[in-house]
Amino acid sequence: MESQSKKNNSLPKIIGIAILVLVIAVVLVFFNRDKANESTEGTTENNETNETTDTTEATEDETDKEVSDLGSVEATDELTAQINEVLNYDFSNYKIVSEDAQKYTTTFNALDTVIQLIIYNDDPNIDVEQIFDETEVLIRGYESLISKTIEGSYTSQLNNNSEFDYSNFAYAEVVHQLYDKSAYYEELSDGAFDVTMEPVVRLWDINNGNTEVPAQDDIDATLALVGYENYTRDDAAQKYVLSNGATVDFGAIAKGHMADIVKGSLMSKGINSALVNLGGNVMTIGAKPGDKNWIIAIQDPMGNTGEQLGTLEVKNKSLVTSGNYERFFIKDGVRYHHILDPETGYPAVSGLSQTTIISERSIDCDALSTTTFILGQEDGMELIESLDGFDAMFVGEDGEYYFSNDFLNQYNYVDSETK
Ligand code: AMP
Ligand code: MG
Repeated sequence: MESQSKKNNSLPKIIGIAILVLVIAVVLVFFNRDKANESTEGTTENNETNETTDTTEATEDETDKEVSDLGSVEATDELTAQINEVLNYDFSNYKIVSEDAQKYTTTFNALDTVIQLIIYNDDPNIDVEQIFDETEVLIRGYESLISKTIEGSYTSQLNNNSEFDYSNFAYAEVVHQLYDKSAYYEELSDGAFDVTMEPVVRLWDINNGNTEVPAQDDIDATLALVGYENYTRDDAAQKYVLSNGATVDFGAIAKGHMADIVKGSLMSKGINSALVNLGGNVMTIGAKPGDKNWIIAIQDPMGNTGEQLGTLEVKNKSLVTSGNYERFFIKDGVRYHHILDPETGYPAVSGLSQTTIISERSIDCDALSTTTFILGQEDGMELIESLDGFDAMFVGEDGEYYFSNDFLNQYNYVDSETK
């Protein structure tokens, strides 16, 4: 009897607890959803966040499928044409889109990051959804061409075989461009920017979540393999060659290169107003409808992902940010991040926590945001001022801001209240 009555008494209690657990679970799911959405907002169009985040979950399943379908670079005529024809596209001619243009957005994961595209279109002959699909294929095609972790890519073939025969390679022009830019910035930075840092990058493995400081012997051994003279292009033999055990990693420049290719592709299809956000690499096409500026939020280097430091305004330019908060681990109070100094083999300690570069082409912004992060405030800003058409904003580890000469006049930087 006693046990019977106990059972009866506890039944409503159990139901009550079950309902409570269910309510907590539902609340948690929604909370996490909001959190996940926030993390995609980092450096996007400042005032349009709701629409952009809503598309994240809807597109993920489809994109997973496409990754496995593509697998390695498939040089379809269509993709080859899309990429090759726009490599040197002239970005200067764009039309102003009318105020009543329709806004389209899409978001998906690729290049190890969240990709966001915004297009404003007022031309009834343009099918924006189809352009989104083609752009996604283009981005995945580029990724499988350049990513060192994708088997069959240019980079992994070169790294595995120490040479790459480009005589019959459909994307030879793409890898020539990457090589030329990598060589240019290596020289300009006196070796601070060096794509042959790959062995050291792999040793630290920060992008894959390693949390241990490597042994000094290992750092020395991998650093000994680094040197731009070990990465050469042999025009007579139509080959790229890696010597002395060198390997390459285009992580500091590829997203910028990709952003330029996407811009050329979109413009060649008649798009005059768009924003491409490759996770911190922002490229704008033309102006917003009615010739308005794009308003871009800058990530607060001391804040959580998605927290804004401030906003700035651009038209038809790219803006790329590097920072020590993007990929890092903390050990014994020291922050070890993903931008490595070729002089030491350790994460760069330059006194900066963030660098942002604005210019016409994203490949240059990408290379220079990484480079200036390593060089530090003084040498980094001197380099930017010595170049035509570049502007920079740096944030020190102490929270101090540094702007290149024209920056404040040109981009209307406004500190954010949420900082
Ligand atoms: P970013 O986020 O554009 O500043 O580039 C950082 C990425 O570039 C790292 O995750 C590495 O893959 C790679 N990298 C690290 N240090 C260097 C360096 N000194 N020169 C060129 N690439 C580097
Ligand atoms: Mg970079």
